[in-house]
Amino acid sequence: MLRVGLTGGIGSGKSTVSSLLAQHGAVVIDYDRLARDVVEPGSPALDLIAERFGAGVIAADGSLDRPALGALVFADPEALSDLNGITHPAIRSLGHDRESAAGPDAVVVHDNPLLVEMGAAAACDVVVVVDVPVEVQVQRLTTLRGMTEADARARIAAQASREERTGAADLVIDNTGPQDELASIVGGLWDELVSRAAAKAV
Ligand code: ADP
Repeated sequence: MLRVGLTGGIGSGKSTVSSLLAQHGAVVIDYDRLARDVVEPGSPALDLIAERFGAGVIAADGSLDRPALGALVFADPEALSDLNGITHPAIRSLGHDRESAAGPDAVVVHDNPLLVEMGAAAACDVVVVVDVPVEVQVQRLTTLRGMTEADARARIAAQASREERTGAADLVIDNTGPQDELASIVGGLWDELVSRAAAKAV
């Protein structure tokens, strides 16, 4: 099994790369999904969140009230760090479980926007970073995702910097060009990953 970490700043094109890799045959583990799964009603992480942040972060139906929690951790680094201390280990453990379900020859892609922030890069055989300049992120988020420029810039600023991310990379995918160019870059990436998986299996 080849363990691939895939990350990129918001709007970089990480999800596009992830779905292209899935089309080639990668087993993709979506960490946005895992982050929602670990706080489902009845989960140990949700109980811990309610203990730390109070009953006000639980909605009437027992689910996590994300806006209420967001308001508490926004601009409070200590609260955010407490929250991450609850959710990150649960997410890591669920990612590990999902990985164990893949076959021995699989190329497993951990599609994780916070791979670097969570310190999860070291556990990967290969770290792939989708990279674009900040101005391209802002332009795509505002034109394609309907965000305001201020919102886009705030979200980008809340993540690891471009340099922190590429510093952790083994392979950098430049997604400044058009989408068809990205598809061909990802075709080459897939060949590289398959050959690394074969080399590892020997
Ligand atoms: P991320 O997962 O990194 O936030 P996405 O893969 O969702 O980013 O891409 C953000 C937006 O940019 C999407 O609407 C996507 O279709 C578009 N996009 C991705 N790559 C390109 C590209 N090379 N050129 C133009 N638009 C792109």
